[in-house]
Amino acid sequence: LTIMPIYGTRPEAIKMAPIVKALQESSSFDCVVTVTGQHREMLDQVNEIFDITPDHDLNIIQPRQTLNGVLTRTVEGLDAIFEESAPDAVIVQGDTTTSTAGAIAAFYRGIPVIHAEAGLRSFDLFSPFPEEANRRITSQITSLHLAPTDISKRNLQAESINGDDVVVTGNTVIDALHHTVAKALPFTDPQLEEIAQRSGKTLLVTTHRRENQGEAMRGVGRALARIADAEPDLTIVLPAHRNPVVREAVLPAIEGKPNVHVTEPLAYGEFTRMLSVADVVLTDSGGVQEEAPSLGKPVLVMRENTERPEAVTAGTVKLIGTDEERIVEEVDTLLHNHAIYDAMANAVNPYGDGKAAARTIAAIEKMFDLGDRLEDFNPGV
Ligand code: UDP
Repeated sequence: LTIMPIYGTRPEAIKMAPIVKALQESSSFDCVVTVTGQHREMLDQVNEIFDITPDHDLNIIQPRQTLNGVLTRTVEGLDAIFEESAPDAVIVQGDTTTSTAGAIAAFYRGIPVIHAEAGLRSFDLFSPFPEEANRRITSQITSLHLAPTDISKRNLQAESINGDDVVVTGNTVIDALHHTVAKALPFTDPQLEEIAQRSGKTLLVTTHRRENQGEAMRGVGRALARIADAEPDLTIVLPAHRNPVVREAVLPAIEGKPNVHVTEPLAYGEFTRMLSVADVVLTDSGGVQEEAPSLGKPVLVMRENTERPEAVTAGTVKLIGTDEERIVEEVDTLLHNHAIYDAMANAVNPYGDGKAAARTIAAIEKMFDLGDRLEDFNPGV
């Protein structure tokens, strides 16, 4: 049986990598990897780290591409591949336009869709945009839903999806994190190595989310400039997303600040090492909200809502929105209030035990009546 993982962006690549590896090692399946190239360098960087060579590469990326462009080029490209040789199932990950386009293209060809990281819901169709809509659409045409947590399974059942088609696996991001943190890769940028050794505190910042682009992101830039001025012993590290819209909004306010270090997107191994040396994380990323708790790092999330309530409930993630004043205040609290800091840093990671990819393979075997090894795993994730 041939299973085709389809992915196109950095976060999908990171979370799909453990599944690709597990499929390649499995005696039950052949694995044919297709990438769309919705991201280019950031995608290739991850494939390289995990030593994955795609079998098909649609290379759809275009400068300042639109979502409709990504959707149509992906569906068209995949359809041509399916015309030549259809896999027995595709597996898509998460909520990007690549993943929904991959699901649609397979569904229209009658190929079963497996959805990894299924059932996340913010309950606001337009936030995050387009991710919430993407994940809801994908759920409607999916045969096997791999839910990272019990909450995500319940979200799917509340939408009348049959619980027998949902398997709680944990999130493969924890598998990926264990794999790379164990390697403790050195920084290629000597300044980052120096920051890692420095005794002062470090604030790690990432921002890219579409609905924050524009004024909200300019506010983030201004907040960072104020924090940098108020805290001369703090180092702010900002790996800047490749999207020029993000760079144009955030970077002007912090240019020239001596304690702000802006880098290109870090290779995954370097980013996770930076996460493990950082004291506080400020982000609008989904994946970072899942990774940081398992490294004991408090996370301030620059969004109004989240489809990842588990870490908020656990106490390790706090939603703070994008108001400039609020960002400055919340960072200040975490830098100076030890009780609040410790409470957030010591909360337990709710996203799994690092065996999500193995459970995924067992769930796919069960889907194809190749036995039920899911029972071999400890209950819960
Ligand atoms: N990441 C990375 N290098 C960076 C910044 C982030 O490898 O410079 C990783 C991070 O560890 C996480 C993923 O990229 O696994 C998150 O991607 P992003 O924030 O772009 O997307 P989201 O998770 O919000 O969909």
